[in-house]
Amino acid sequence: DLALYRSKDEGGGRHNVYEPQLHSHAEERRVMEIALRKALEKDEFSLAFQPVVDAASESLIAFEALIRWSNPEFGQVSPSRFIPLAEDARLVVPIGNWVLHRACREAVTWPADVRVAVNVSAEQLYEPDFVETVVEALSETGLAPQRLELEVTESVFLREGSRAGETLDQILALGVGLSLDDFGTGYSALGYLSKTRFTTIKVDRSFVQGAANGMQESIAIIRAVVAMAESLGMSTTAEGAETEHEVRVIRDLGCKKIQGYYYGRPMTADDVASLFGGQQTTLYG
Ligand code: C2E
Ligand code: MG
Ligand code: MG
Ligand code: MG
Repeated sequence: DLALYRSKDEGGGRHNVYEPQLHSHAEERRVMEIALRKALEKDEFSLAFQPVVDAASESLIAFEALIRWSNPEFGQVSPSRFIPLAEDARLVVPIGNWVLHRACREAVTWPADVRVAVNVSAEQLYEPDFVETVVEALSETGLAPQRLELEVTESVFLREGSRAGETLDQILALGVGLSLDDFGTGYSALGYLSKTRFTTIKVDRSFVQGAANGMQESIAIIRAVVAMAESLGMSTTAEGAETEHEVRVIRDLGCKKIQGYYYGRPMTADDVASLFGGQQTTLYG
């Protein structure tokens, strides 16, 4: 993508305008990668946990663990920014292992009917010992496999010969749940849905917003995803519901679970612990 910008600049003769920006962007990536390399040992990562509720009862059923990076030089860096960088630099495997262990360690202190969802990058899944890593995280923390759910995106099926399908089957055989994240935003060849028995399909926030704004296309897509999931024996989660209106629209469309700012923003592990101080499992209880 950098090359694309460069040739455009050269053609348009706007070297002076774009070149310094381009340079600082590449340079920033390089410096950020160096910082990322040291972030684990410097203990700069933490996890935030966002509630997922049952659409019908509004009771809390899970938290999604979301990584946070706080660095002295860069401040708070969004995972949308540094995870792709970590993937390119092959740092996402150790970082992902850390997330998995930390998330399980936290979840084991919660009420037994509350699960934890952990995002897994394709690069992690392609590691030959990935299943072992998951087994280890469970046995070291004592978390029941049924309380763990891994979230992957369609991109895991992109690399040929990666045996992603087999790895996912082994994960399912452990009793661990499996969610298909950001559904509808990537390459959707759908064929893999007949092979991998995902527990849940997560409908991307863009469709949730669209449906709430009355966009017929988004409504049709959510309807189709819900119907397809149901006939495949899978559940559905709507991502990113921010308003009561969005929640109502999603629920009417039949999504089984809801996650979004309306029910709760990502919160610290301590906030989650104090939420459970009174053993309550409903957010508005
Ligand atoms: P995701 O897995 O789809 O996670 C949901 C993202 O949507 C989170 O952003 C969450 O804070 C945000 N979100 C939730 N509800 C709402 C809402 O109502 N409105 C809006 N506008 N946003 C909402 P976050 O934490 O910035 O994470 C972004 C992405 O980074 C994640 O998307 C996931 O792809 C990746 N990511 C986060 N943590 C990890 C991790 O531990 N490992 C890996 N491999 N990727 C991670
Ligand atoms: Mg996710
Ligand atoms: Mg998502
Ligand atoms: Mg998303």
